[in-house]
Amino acid sequence: MNHQHHTNCQDTIQQLNAYLDDELDPQLCAQLEAHLESCTDCHIVYNTLKKTIQLCQSDGEEVALPADVRQRLLASLGLGEVDDTE
Ligand SMILES: [Zn+2]
Repeated sequence: MNHQHHTNCQDTIQQLNAYLDDELDPQLCAQLEAHLESCTDCHIVYNTLKKTIQLCQSDGEEVALPADVRQRLLASLGLGEVDDTE
């Protein structure tokens, strides 16, 4: 029987947003991290949430592609940055 664990998970998941926003008390942070280490379920939730947040954040700003990658990409789309000789 491990009903206490369940309560812990709910607390953890409720605190995850604050944790990822860096708004959690250091003491709570430590508790949460310790729980994530030992609880696969919460760890999965944490990873999913983190990825989602990162996706949202990177949506706002352009991801800089290295020049050669960009050229290859454009070339493969038929939009190569070659001199327009047509
Ligand atoms: Zn948990």
